[in-house]
Amino acid sequence: MNEHQARQSLTLRGAPGYVAAVRTVIFWVVAAVAACGPAASGNHGEGGGDGTETPARDAPIGSQIDAPPSTTAVAPGGECSCDADCADDGAHDGVCIYGVCMTKASGACASGGSTAECPAGSRCWTLDGSDAGPLCWPDCAAHTCGPTGACDGDGSCAPAAESNCDATCGTACSCTETSCGTGNRCVGGECVPDVMTGGGPGAGPGPACTGLPTRDCTGATCGQLVSFNPRANTAWDDYAINGETAANQYRSYLRKDLMMLISYATSFTACKAAAWTTGNGGTLGLGDMSEANGAIPGTSINSPGHPAGTHVNGNDIDLGYYQTGTANNRLRPICNHMSGTQDAQHCVAAPDKLDVWRTALFLGSAFESPRTRVIGVDGQAGPLILSAMDQLCADGWLSAAACNNAVLAYETTDGGQGWYYFHHHHAHISLKSVAALLPEDSACAVPGGCITTGKAVPQRPRGLHRVRRK
Ligand SMILES: [Zn+2]
Repeated sequence: MNEHQARQSLTLRGAPGYVAAVRTVIFWVVAAVAACGPAASGNHGEGGGDGTETPARDAPIGSQIDAPPSTTAVAPGGECSCDADCADDGAHDGVCIYGVCMTKASGACASGGSTAECPAGSRCWTLDGSDAGPLCWPDCAAHTCGPTGACDGDGSCAPAAESNCDATCGTACSCTETSCGTGNRCVGGECVPDVMTGGGPGAGPGPACTGLPTRDCTGATCGQLVSFNPRANTAWDDYAINGETAANQYRSYLRKDLMMLISYATSFTACKAAAWTTGNGGTLGLGDMSEANGAIPGTSINSPGHPAGTHVNGNDIDLGYYQTGTANNRLRPICNHMSGTQDAQHCVAAPDKLDVWRTALFLGSAFESPRTRVIGVDGQAGPLILSAMDQLCADGWLSAAACNNAVLAYETTDGGQGWYYFHHHHAHISLKSVAALLPEDSACAVPGGCITTGKAVPQRPRGLHRVRRK
């Protein structure tokens, strides 16, 4: 079993209009296992030990002939287009964050606003919805906050609304309508492939779809572990997987609220997309959940099939992708995932079996629920799904609530955050803890606890939060 530590830092946002108290959950997942799929062979040589930051894109100090001389580099808080515009501060490399110069922290922020990781006059926070890593945000009291910045409630010089930088050379910048080039579109600040080249479902919203299962659980029993009943219908397919038998589906217990959400979202998809001609049109295959006592699937046979802290207490479920060119939508690779004779354990090319439209519709309907914490997919599938979801939002198939809560996570390269490997055959959905939904609650029940070191950038396009590296 390969083990590496992976960090996931994702932004959680509530209802539209909820701007001030954005909350970031950071938790640790240990080990990417041959987790969630048909008995994967296990070993992948590369990447397993790489849980750390990759080298920054910054210019080496003083070595680049075309870098601006250090005397003219922009101080923290000043305006920038590229990382190279920004002065280093001692050992801290300058980076351009939505048009404002900051520096990189020396390590993870001990707490939001901690000082140990930053030079004097700056404090440490991560950037919500970004993989920029821990940053030293300049104090307005210590630095001149330039025209692209504005002092936020913490006294930091943060990017002002609508300020931006060049995404080709800055650490955190948004694309623009015209900057992504032919065949791409800008969705939520990210360039993604335009999936409309093959045609889409057209104008929504499609069938009314009344009488769907109730989406959100209420009451005292929502955290109880249950299983799907029936096991299969016209929407979902909770088949025996990973050593289960039809008589003993011991890996298929999940929280009642998660069961209800998946029941709703698969039913929504089956109904809304009934006439779509993409994909095989079948029901959605359901993979590992938890064991009946909340343990990681496989624990009872001394072979837990997932990283510690995941798939416990019914908070997580693995889901097949809706597919094209296959007999059904059970868990299977949707792409070429071989690197020579080695299984790379991630898509090495664009998916060729992904029904991107139904998958986007399904994930979008799951995003309708404020309880959805995050859904992780393969790094080759994620940009396509975002693109399709954007189109479904524009065409009216998905609600504004769904489009504003698209907490989709993927890594296009291994950023060590746990999504890069093992999601080429399934998506993984995780709910917020019930307690975390309560107002003012700060105690996260997620594994590893809940650290609030994130800061949001004001008035950025909401909703699309992914884990992605340039
Ligand atoms: Zn999983």
